[in-house]
Amino acid sequence: MDEKIPFCSFCGKTASQVRQLIAAPKEDTFICDECVEWCIDLLEEELEREEVVEKDGDNIKSILEKIEVLKPTIIKSYLDQYIIGQDEAKKSLAVAVYNHYKRIKNNDNDVDIQKSNLLFIGPTGSGKTYMAETLAKFLGVPFAIADATTLTEAGYVGEDVENVILKLLTAAGGDVKKTEIGIIYIDEIDKITKKGENVSITRDVSGEGVQQALLKIIEGTDANVPPAGGRKHPQQEYIKVNTKNILFICGGAFDGLENIIESRINTSTVGFNTKLVDKKDIKYDEYIKKCETKDLIKYGLIPELVGRLPVVATLESLDEDALIKILTVPKNALIKQYQKLLKFDNVELKFTNEALKLMAKKAMERNLGARGLRGIIEEIMRDVMYEVPDDPKIVEVIVDDKCISEGKKPDYIYGEKPDIRPQKEHKKTIQKSA
Ligand code: ADP
Repeated sequence: MDEKIPFCSFCGKTASQVRQLIAAPKEDTFICDECVEWCIDLLEEELEREEVVEKDGDNIKSILEKIEVLKPTIIKSYLDQYIIGQDEAKKSLAVAVYNHYKRIKNNDNDVDIQKSNLLFIGPTGSGKTYMAETLAKFLGVPFAIADATTLTEAGYVGEDVENVILKLLTAAGGDVKKTEIGIIYIDEIDKITKKGENVSITRDVSGEGVQQALLKIIEGTDANVPPAGGRKHPQQEYIKVNTKNILFICGGAFDGLENIIESRINTSTVGFNTKLVDKKDIKYDEYIKKCETKDLIKYGLIPELVGRLPVVATLESLDEDALIKILTVPKNALIKQYQKLLKFDNVELKFTNEALKLMAKKAMERNLGARGLRGIIEEIMRDVMYEVPDDPKIVEVIVDDKCISEGKKPDYIYGEKPDIRPQKEHKKTIQKSA
């Protein structure tokens, strides 16, 4: 008798090996109870994954909707609260960002709007990084900073370009969709120029290769991001991140670019502003504003990369007045921060105008722009922050010009302080009623 023994078409087990075999409506096909359970688990997992993706999608939609209402003027006024001066750069950034997110939100295929990546040109400590960072905070999108000089072409010793995306992915808490609408600031882009094009370039064997590698992620690609960073292994699983909608802001001081621009302009306009030549900052500020694509290419950026950074914004050197404002005016100005910290100890902190002036002067001498201010104020305030909490009789601390010029200790004013701590009685009533 040629009778076929029924078996599960999935796992091959026969009826005697499982609890139940279920027959398919047609043909001689069966599935066992174990394989049914396995299929249910599989489907449930898939369903859960889809739900997470959907939730992330909603999240992105709501972020984009929030950003969409932020017109360029609103973006600029937010930046104004934190960044002193640099009006032109703030405007360019506000417009670029507005267009960028509008482009993402209305992503139809009729007209391909070019991504408005930016190039910031401006001296050290003029606010390039800070502006990009402040903007990302305002928009509520992830933000990462990378230093172009640490990057290498794939396969060389150093940091792969994909690690830049990994930084953004980490800032987005591992959320790929959120990463894909983030902002990346690439600092020191002027230090990876092609060899030999510019006299001020000392480093660089692979500058052009790094530019090529950067170009790929800037123009939009599916980047394979190694999950835990570090070097790639063939067997390592990658996370795919599409960089098409990531906004890239590249920045650099481009020392010497002013000379390239000067020689271009001066061949056509003889005698242009010759009075400016001896004052380095003024000359730099003046010429940098007139920067054109060909100047950047002459400096050593590859034309393809320049083409992918269509918005060029220049930042000016910060003068003494601007540095004083940076110390005192922004919402989180350094002096306001120290004043707030000392307020917790019920102590007033005052800086004389002369002291502020000298601090700004000192920062200018250090040639680090506003970046020098933090070090200067920390130096002055170190002992104050150490001693004041210990002495309840101090009511005021005054920093004058001698504290900066001669390293004198700030003056402490003593007196009686009102007790601002909550009264015990008051606390008890709160506890009783709670
Ligand atoms: P860079 O132009 O070299 O990128 P940064 O943006 O890193 O300079 O500036 C260093 C610090 O100096 C910032 O964190 C910020 O505190 C301060 N700063 C620089 N420029 C400005 C500015 N225009 N307004 C307010 N603060 C500034």
